[in-house]
Amino acid sequence: PDALVGAVTRALDRADEVRRLEVRANADTPEDAARARRFGAQGIGLCRTEHMFLGERRRLVERMILAGSDTDRDRALEDLLPLQRQDFTGILAAMDGLPVTIRLLDPPLHEFLPDRLGLATRLAAAEARGETPDGHDADLLDAVNRMHEENPMLGLRGVRLGLVVPGLVAMQVRAVAEAVVERVRAGGSPRAEIMVPLVGDVTEFRLAREEVDRVLADVSATFGVPVDCPVGTMIELPRAALTAGRIAEDAEFFSFGTNDLTQTTWGFSRDDVEAAFFSAYLDKGVFTASPFETIDREGVGRLVEIAVAEGRSARPSLETGVCGEHGGDPESVHFFHAAGLDYVSCSPFRIPVARLEAGRAALETEAPPDLR
Ligand code: PEP
Ligand code: MG
Repeated sequence: PDALVGAVTRALDRADEVRRLEVRANADTPEDAARARRFGAQGIGLCRTEHMFLGERRRLVERMILAGSDTDRDRALEDLLPLQRQDFTGILAAMDGLPVTIRLLDPPLHEFLPDRLGLATRLAAAEARGETPDGHDADLLDAVNRMHEENPMLGLRGVRLGLVVPGLVAMQVRAVAEAVVERVRAGGSPRAEIMVPLVGDVTEFRLAREEVDRVLADVSATFGVPVDCPVGTMIELPRAALTAGRIAEDAEFFSFGTNDLTQTTWGFSRDDVEAAFFSAYLDKGVFTASPFETIDREGVGRLVEIAVAEGRSARPSLETGVCGEHGGDPESVHFFHAAGLDYVSCSPFRIPVARLEAGRAALETEAPPDLR
């Protein structure tokens, strides 16, 4: 085993010497961030903040989204602020000195809202027993019915949520900015970046960015500590890829969300890849690997290439990466290298493979044949 560990370590060292792609991690807890660092991550390419709103905090999210009044919503946001600040302080500490891309809330709404059927059943059962229905449950059911979506993955998600729930973007950005201030005062070197999810049009990005910039400036002035976070966007809708030049005028970086981009390009639900037709398609050779695992070069890959070219011509300094599952898939890593991305971001356990493949991709395409 020692010889094996030695060989793997040498291969990884060699890959790190030659690779051009940076390798970052998808992580949203300090523990995951620390693990990713041990695996060689050069930062966090995707911190999914919706994972911070599960468990106990679900009630606060319910209050925020289903709020009966502006005061209810503002109180829920006030309660969420210190919790979020603590989340970000921990992650920035674990990744001190390296970039941490924090994505604004992007939940498919149904994962957060109380179960509609369960609520309705409870109320109906109470009524059948001749009891007065619980007022809280009744209000909740009303609100859930109002927000119900037949197709939540194509619904009130990502930037859309940020634009329709007043104060949500501001709360999250304030939490990031205050965490940066806290880390700077503790002598750290925090490098937070703010990422807007599910953008389809430059105006959505601009509206979100205005709010982000306003809060960053406000926190900088209040604490007398400059908080300069690059602000960028996910590219995960075909429309975003096709209008990337306009979006790049305002966005400092692009991160390709190839999970959603595959879903929206093919029109396949990412939640139903176990569906029977998927294996039939594999059997019939429509595709040779699941497009959710290995990048579909002709469709999703073309959109990535178009967006990189358009984005870079609008903003030569544009940073580009990928944070969908494909970021840790060997064959896809070769594609991202060839497409000229700056980094891939994947789950911590896939980092060594991504480092190796990024090294192999560089050797195969760039090194003189006698060195390959
Ligand atoms: C994606 O869509 O590829 C992505 C990284 O975002 P999420 O998986 O969280 O939707
Ligand atoms: Mg996505």
